[in-house]
Amino acid sequence: MVGEFRRGLWDALSPAQRRRLLFVSSLVALGAGIQGLAPLALTTGVDRLTAGNLPAALVAVTAYAAMAGLSRALRQGVSLAYGAVARGFERDLYRKAYAHALALPHAVHLDRRAGELARTVTDGVRGWRRMLDAAVFTALPFVVEVGTVGAVLLSASIPTSILGVLLAFVLTYGLVFHRGILGQRGSFRTAARADAEAQGVASDALVSQETVKLFTREAFVEEKIGGAFARGGAAWDFYNRIVAINGLLLSAIFTLALGTMLLLAAGEVAAGRMSPGGFVLVNAYVLQVVGPVERLGQMAREVVQGLDLTARLRELMAEPGETALSPGTQTLAGQGPVALAIQDLQFGYDPRRPVLHGISLAIPAGQTLAVVGRSGSGKSTLARLMCGLYRPDSGTLRLDKMPISDLSLAALRSAVAVVPQDTVLLHDTLRANVIFAWPDAPEAALLEAARVAGLSVLVEALPDGWDTVVGERGLRLSGGEKQRVAIARAVLRRPRLLILDEATASLDTRTERDIQSALEAAASEVTTLVIAHRLSTVRNADEIAVMEDGRIVERGSHDTLLTLGGRYAALWHAQEEVALSSLAGGEQAAAHPTRSTPDWESA
Ligand code: ATP
Repeated sequence: MVGEFRRGLWDALSPAQRRRLLFVSSLVALGAGIQGLAPLALTTGVDRLTAGNLPAALVAVTAYAAMAGLSRALRQGVSLAYGAVARGFERDLYRKAYAHALALPHAVHLDRRAGELARTVTDGVRGWRRMLDAAVFTALPFVVEVGTVGAVLLSASIPTSILGVLLAFVLTYGLVFHRGILGQRGSFRTAARADAEAQGVASDALVSQETVKLFTREAFVEEKIGGAFARGGAAWDFYNRIVAINGLLLSAIFTLALGTMLLLAAGEVAAGRMSPGGFVLVNAYVLQVVGPVERLGQMAREVVQGLDLTARLRELMAEPGETALSPGTQTLAGQGPVALAIQDLQFGYDPRRPVLHGISLAIPAGQTLAVVGRSGSGKSTLARLMCGLYRPDSGTLRLDKMPISDLSLAALRSAVAVVPQDTVLLHDTLRANVIFAWPDAPEAALLEAARVAGLSVLVEALPDGWDTVVGERGLRLSGGEKQRVAIARAVLRRPRLLILDEATASLDTRTERDIQSALEAAASEVTTLVIAHRLSTVRNADEIAVMEDGRIVERGSHDTLLTLGGRYAALWHAQEEVALSSLAGGEQAAAHPTRSTPDWESA
């Protein structure tokens, strides 16, 4: 536990933060020492008063008041300096935790709710902060105060009966407290976990708000969120009950011990073996010992709860990031388009269900390969493997003869740009979303990328132009507009391999054709992999591969595939027919090409 504490807190602090923390700690220790000695001054005051020495009594009482005040003032003063250390520590921890969460493999993110992940980080940071607070404001003063009080009590000739009761009290109190904490731990963990789950359910509902509204499932979702928080609430109620019972037991022990010691002290005074000052000393020090013992108990609870709160964050931080899983370090030599070679690629998201069964493909540098095939045949999976989002089970992917597993992920991803099927934009302006690919892009490059992607028309039409805020995940834009932003972003990246995964599927035929010719004009500077359903969009590709159930079943140029008379030819003719009839029938079919286009099932 101490090692965990040191690694989590001390090692996480910068040298300047450590120096400040040591300074704060020494002030806290000084305050505790003064507080430990203060009752001595009071005792002296009482004794001088009973002896009729008023001036000396006044000096002693004033000293007592000054010591008590000073120790409190020190504590207040240190909280200012401590605040800066603690905030710096929290800020660094948040940054590190989120950076690590972001670096976790794609598959891990798909398994978790973002809200739950955020809650894990918040809980973890809160936990470390609680432990830091406890260490500085409880553990340290405890050691100093108990040391001072112990020394005073031993030197003040307190009757052994009273010391014996005090010792018994401290031991019993500690034991009951310890057992209490162990008993509470499980229910605390359950409650904290239930809270994180509830947070996950709630944030999931917010992210899916559109679906909730469209299916009028508000009441259902509210019920679900309510249920999740109710489970959290019940777990906290149970935990609070255990804490309260333990607290009552501890109060009883304290009252019994204090009463016994004061009665014993009163007996000593009555028998003339103890001065009234001594009686005051016993009362003051019993309280003084009880204070730190109680605070130590609270600290133990804080530390145990802190460790429980941080447990999930520690687990998260121990999970290997995707760079650890992809240890390649090489960079890709040269510039311009790369040659892509895929050899006998096998992959399954789940070992029980293989998705790709030995894919072999090649695209010479600067050429375009189109992959077509029915839904679920594994086309996007191929794209995800090319960007290193997953690792193949076997087989190799090479860029310019270099296996991508030898490349660092950063090198791989700066060479490859993807326009994914579902575009997710940042909740920011259009400009910020496009230059995300290249933050220092010159204006001319941005405008050129916008032109190629057919985005310029949209920017001109929007009242706020490039400064238009696109909304959460880009939901203020239409599907086709989002796709154009994604294409501009990918073009601005100036990749050496461009992957277009159904990148123009939400666009009308005319815009699609315009973007396609602009992309084709720029195509010689980049190797392109196009994934598409509409065959008209891929007829100019240098090669077309037809995929079915994770296998390539046909390959060749458009003309070769037509001559072959297989799956591709059948679908081509079917789609042609619909296109011709829609031309004859007007614009409606052209505006919704995917709806009326025959697919692999119908061909
Ligand atoms: P579409 O044309 O509909 O986009 P596709 O050919 O691109 O389909 P993929 O997205 O590659 O298909 O999916 C191939 C198979 O892998 C599908 O059966 C899908 O259910 C499965 N799959 C995709 N992503 C995951 C994932 N993260 N975990 C488990 N299975 C997945």
